[in-house]
Amino acid sequence: MLNEDASVQIKYWGVRGSLPSPLDPRDYRSRIQEVLKRSKSAWKENPDLSEEAMFDSLPPYLAGVVGGDTTCVELRSGEEQLIFDLGTGARRLGYDMLARGHKGDLHVLMTHTHWDHIQGWPFFAPGFIPGNHVHFHSCIPDCEQRFTRQQEFEYFPLAFKDMQAERTFHTYDQGDSFDIGSFKVKTEALIHPGGSTSYRVDQGKKTFIFATDTEFYGPELKALIKKKKPFFKGADLLVMDAQYSLKESEQKIGWGHTAMVIAVDCAIEWGVKKLALTHHEPAHDDASTYRLFEEALEHNRQYGDALEITLARQGEVMDI
Ligand SMILES: [Zn+2]
Ligand SMILES: [Zn+2]
Repeated sequence: MLNEDASVQIKYWGVRGSLPSPLDPRDYRSRIQEVLKRSKSAWKENPDLSEEAMFDSLPPYLAGVVGGDTTCVELRSGEEQLIFDLGTGARRLGYDMLARGHKGDLHVLMTHTHWDHIQGWPFFAPGFIPGNHVHFHSCIPDCEQRFTRQQEFEYFPLAFKDMQAERTFHTYDQGDSFDIGSFKVKTEALIHPGGSTSYRVDQGKKTFIFATDTEFYGPELKALIKKKKPFFKGADLLVMDAQYSLKESEQKIGWGHTAMVIAVDCAIEWGVKKLALTHHEPAHDDASTYRLFEEALEHNRQYGDALEITLARQGEVMDI
């Protein structure tokens, strides 16, 4: 019997777009220097300030990192789990699943197979465990061949077929719906070079939508947003591609990504409750990503704070 109030948890294992981008040593050093400078003056002003309070007073780009691993998101509800994409973030997810004692079936929903969405698979420990059964769900008829090619000997020492977990590929047409356990899943085609699929997951009264690698831009933007409304309408949490500044999205037409402020426009039009911005541009340092996030918040304020917006950060957990 489904508990309609059961909490659905989303964890971001990888939020970087296009390419893994670990923190640069120069960036790390300049952050430490800025923290030292800020703490020196704060403690001069108030010698009794606790370390905790000092830390809490730091701006977010100094207090943490957005994260350099590429796309991998986990949804959990009770004992059930869904995984969205297998970017490099899947490596840490795999370790975590081992530590939790995961065994048996697991379900991966693939948006598409660009490198930043598949490269974590050969390092995903549950894929090497006999008795595990990995179900790949996608709208890509040759998905298995694509994973196989990634592990040809010239590129990786171990072949896909030699990984010990059992694997089954489930293929759908765009627009299809299917069930995984108590999750009702619906697919929708996104605009991206080579195509990408968005997944809407309904469980009881909760709705989660994952929509990355998608371009909302161009002269037909308003019509496109309206056209997609039936699929995105009323999501409790939408995790959406927001790789670019508005200027970058003008310069990179056809690259398949969306500007943060346009993601806000989409979510408002669709009546989404909470929007999490993801697939962060690897060329942006964290300070720049937070500046774009501020612009997105300001854009939302102009609509009277129509929705809740958050920046997806690696390691973070969100409840729906
Ligand atoms: Zn991508
Ligand atoms: Zn892509």
